[in-house]
Amino acid sequence: MTARPIDPRIMELHDGELRLLGGRCGTCAETDFPAQDSCRRCGGVEMSTVRLADQGVLWSWTVQRFPPPSPPYVPRGGEFEAFGVGYVELPGEVIVEALLTESDAEKLRIGMPMRLTTLDVLTHCGEQATTFAFEPVATGEPG
Ligand SMILES: [Zn+2]
Repeated sequence: MTARPIDPRIMELHDGELRLLGGRCGTCAETDFPAQDSCRRCGGVEMSTVRLADQGVLWSWTVQRFPPPSPPYVPRGGEFEAFGVGYVELPGEVIVEALLTESDAEKLRIGMPMRLTTLDVLTHCGEQATTFAFEPVATGEPG
C-alpha cells in the first residue's frame, strides 16, 4: 500500500495494515468513533486515542444505487456503480458506519462477520488516498 490514509485523525497504518482510531473515555471507558473531545455518555474530557478492532459483525446495511450529492461524494469517473454502506459493530467498542466492498444484496446479511480493509479513492484535489471499508469474512458456508 502506498497511498496515505485520507484522514489521519480517524485511521492510521500499523504494520502496513489500516486501522481505525477511536476515542476512549478515561472516566467510563465509553468508546466513540470518530473520536470526540468529550464523552457522549458521561461528558468526561479525559479522552485517549485507541486503535479499534479490525473485525466486527454487520449490524445494518443498505445498497446505494444512485450517486450521492457531490460534494462530498467524489465521482470516480465512468458509470456510477452501486455500493454497499453499512454499520459494523466492533464487539465491546462501537458501531462504525462504513463503505462495504460488497454491493450484492444477496450476499449481505445482518450479523455476518466483517473485516476492515482499504479502498483507494481520489480526493477533491485528485490525489490518490486510502480510506477504509469493510468486507465480508469468508466463512466457508455454501452459497
Ligand atoms: Zn465517559
